[in-house]
Amino acid sequence: MRKLILFILVTCAFISTSVAQKPDKLSSNQIYEKVQKLNFLGSALYIAAHPDDENTRLIAYLSNNVKARTAYLSLTRGDGGQNLIGPEIREQLGVIRTQELLAARRVDGGEQLFSRANDFGYSKHPDETFDIWNEDEVLSDVVWAIRKFKPDVIINRFDHRTPGRTHGHHTASAMLSMEAFDLAGDKNAYASQLKTYDAWQPTRLFFNTSWWFYGSREKFEKADKSNMLNFDIGVYYPLKGLSNNELASIASSQHLCQGFGRLTSRGTQQEYVEFLKGDFPKDKSNIFSGIDTTWNRVKGGKAIGNILNTIEKNFDFVNPSSHLPKLMEAYGMIQKLEDEHWKTIKLAEIETIIQACAGLYLEASAISPSATPRSDIKINIEALNRSNTAIKLKTITATSDNKTTTKNIDLLPNKRENISLEANLATDEYSAPYWLFEKGTLGMYNVADQQLRGLPETPRPAILKFNLEIAGKPITITKPVIYRYSKPDKGELYQPFEILPEVTADFKDKVLIFSTKDAKEIPVTVKAGKDNIDGYVSIKHPYSWKVYPEKQKVTIAQKGDEVTLMFTVIPPATQSEGILTPEVFIGNKKYTQALSEIEYDHIPKQSVLLPSETKVVRLNIQKGGQYIGYIQGAGDAIPESLRQIGYDVEIIDPASIDAESLQKYDAVVVGIRAYNTVDELKFKQKYILDYVKNGGNVIVQYNTNRRVKVDPSEIAPYNLQLSRDRVTDENAKVTVIAKDHSLVNFPNKIEAKDFDDWVQERGLYFPNSWAPEFTPILSMNDKGETEKKGSLLVAKYGKGNYIYTGLSFFRELPAGVPGAYKLFTNMISIGKSEIVTKPQLKN
Ligand SMILES: [Zn+2]
Repeated sequence: MRKLILFILVTCAFISTSVAQKPDKLSSNQIYEKVQKLNFLGSALYIAAHPDDENTRLIAYLSNNVKARTAYLSLTRGDGGQNLIGPEIREQLGVIRTQELLAARRVDGGEQLFSRANDFGYSKHPDETFDIWNEDEVLSDVVWAIRKFKPDVIINRFDHRTPGRTHGHHTASAMLSMEAFDLAGDKNAYASQLKTYDAWQPTRLFFNTSWWFYGSREKFEKADKSNMLNFDIGVYYPLKGLSNNELASIASSQHLCQGFGRLTSRGTQQEYVEFLKGDFPKDKSNIFSGIDTTWNRVKGGKAIGNILNTIEKNFDFVNPSSHLPKLMEAYGMIQKLEDEHWKTIKLAEIETIIQACAGLYLEASAISPSATPRSDIKINIEALNRSNTAIKLKTITATSDNKTTTKNIDLLPNKRENISLEANLATDEYSAPYWLFEKGTLGMYNVADQQLRGLPETPRPAILKFNLEIAGKPITITKPVIYRYSKPDKGELYQPFEILPEVTADFKDKVLIFSTKDAKEIPVTVKAGKDNIDGYVSIKHPYSWKVYPEKQKVTIAQKGDEVTLMFTVIPPATQSEGILTPEVFIGNKKYTQALSEIEYDHIPKQSVLLPSETKVVRLNIQKGGQYIGYIQGAGDAIPESLRQIGYDVEIIDPASIDAESLQKYDAVVVGIRAYNTVDELKFKQKYILDYVKNGGNVIVQYNTNRRVKVDPSEIAPYNLQLSRDRVTDENAKVTVIAKDHSLVNFPNKIEAKDFDDWVQERGLYFPNSWAPEFTPILSMNDKGETEKKGSLLVAKYGKGNYIYTGLSFFRELPAGVPGAYKLFTNMISIGKSEIVTKPQLKN
């Protein structure tokens, strides 16, 4: 496997961008652009923290105008963001955002790199970021990226000198880049990396500045720019029929889960980079000034450059195959280069060009989308030469079992050859995202294999090497095995060919709350990864919890089919938390992973394996009120969480709200950002406040202070100013400042320990000023900041109660945080005098 990974490593930067997509079918224009890029030997690395931080205008410009090898190093995969297109969060969101970055790079022509840092959520200051990331490990990954990619220039998206002005991850990315710039060339730093890659000193480092960092356009206009370079990144590319900024807009619009879909822009536009360190460029119009970016850069390159520059100068757009003899000559010369770095890069580039010039179609499609380790797979190969150049398919080698099949077929002009091949998947590893195989920490993924660190994707497990003779000279063209199929409503589709477990199992819910001693029936769904599954399932559980039956038999005849088994879970009598894991035993093997499949049109299908588990929480909780109306905002899982503790929750259609309709509820809860997202509330807010006046109980969760759809003065019955105040440290000390208020006493007494084990943050967008009618209940703050008292505000209004809270209940309840449940129950119970003992309804 190690050998396989090493081999794939050197080619993956090129393969991974087209894996699972329809294969690139290059037109003459595109081939010509690839020849231009082949003749440029310079590299630029752009560094920031998250998917969507990158300036696609500059990446597109460097890649398409300058022709440089350009990569974006995103320290994280964006697990901590929100998802506007589907239910995936955290690790699965990180998988989507990884693929959105790859989709953006397919458009702007860049490559994509990562570190092991995990996006754990918002952080105000790089100090906090470094407390949670392992600073040394992330720094070593940045150094690794530089030694591997060998950039001449590095460009930071963010300013390393202004901690606290933006997200802590942002400033941290720039600070680490500053350090890594010096360390990458130092043979004493991270010396174990030097077994794989040499030390590398980039020539210069820039910061991609703009007016935003100066506060206003006027201030930026007046700023001293003697230290800056600028480019017109609005250049037009006639070969593409697109401007650079149009291309950049299309690239950044791939970040759909972050709501980045946008109009394209055109026209002249200046982009600035500020020099930070290294050699100051003599020619300020050229970021590579003083760096040899021609073939002369490599020993033995001059003669290659002579051939390839002639091809570029005299490129035959009508019949590009006329260049094949010379391209093959250059290919042979590149193979003999001593410089392994440029040899690997340029071989992959020229391989693509030769194939495209010959109109050579090579495809390896498995007959099934997935298989299990060590199994045999059938592959259908299509080989087609659409030129008049002599091409012979000599042998095919499958890298998975290293077997070579001799063919010796002359690929005659436009005569399709269909070949069937069988290969063994001689590996025990799965093809799912590698960084999720081991459990990480809050701040870091756990990736033991140094060769995998930084790769955007798991190297494809099955690859075919086609050993050919073109124009009488040998060449090897590499293709990953894919799965090709069609759907009547979508046409021809491609997806990655995966190696997945024989069986996977999953719970329906990720958190189960037991608010009484009653047992719950829990479904476990078992999915077959191959035919004829025969084994049994049991549930691993904490000692104080009971699960029946102890084991159940499972048989599944068909690969892909699922069966659901019911288990009875009995909680302990007292408050308790634990983890349940389904264990499927087949023969002497145990399987404990859950498989989730992610499918969107803008990215390839993803098969993600994660440890299968559900958190179980036994709460000792008292409830007032029973019937809750819920007005959904941007979307949260609070209704399901409240149902788990026995509330009856009805989702309210905003259009149906009138003077009468809310009366039946014990409480009305308004979902997160409802006043930012639900237009209808503009007309309904008066009924909601009237409901309070008449004795109702309304709980409003956080809204942002921008783009509010209702009159901001009408959100609450009294003055309330929303702000950007937030407490991002989930362990920040919380003080109860209204100790006698019923919110912290009835029906559940709230104590200091109820603020233990909160996740990601305390809360966000707290009001920062309010009318005297409001009582602030809690006080909290992040390190080095003033006290924030606006996280939970309550006011009597008429006969009822109005509560506004920026506390992150939408994160805490789905995560099964006991104290958050108690506090939420108290909010619902305000104004009630009785504890509801109605038997818990079925979920
Ligand atoms: Zn960011």
